[in-house]
Amino acid sequence: MHELSLAMSILDIAGEESDRRGGAEIKSIYLKLGPLSGVIKQALISAFDLAREMSPFSKVELVVEEVPLRVRCHVCDTERELPCFQDLCCPECGTPCGDVVCGRELEIVAMEIES
Ligand SMILES: [Zn+2]
Repeated sequence: MHELSLAMSILDIAGEESDRRGGAEIKSIYLKLGPLSGVIKQALISAFDLAREMSPFSKVELVVEEVPLRVRCHVCDTERELPCFQDLCCPECGTPCGDVVCGRELEIVAMEIES
């Protein structure tokens, strides 16, 4: 149910944006989603479809861009993309990396609005 309340708050934000523009129609919402956000893309999209049916924005589309998980390894002094987020260790030297550069994202980055 986490995804459903999230989908509803995304629609709330879209609704506020629409109001601010005098009831403009929101066509698409662009969301960035990282693997550490705890949200599963497919679950969010299904929840969004459901939430959309119950909202005044039945035509709005949710576009989810998945962000890779990147950490900074202090031993290699490099940013590395992790293929798996079960353990946050550098794939080259195996040092645990708690320094997440990106991957926690759960944010609306843009909206396409009918002008
Ligand atoms: Zn390393």
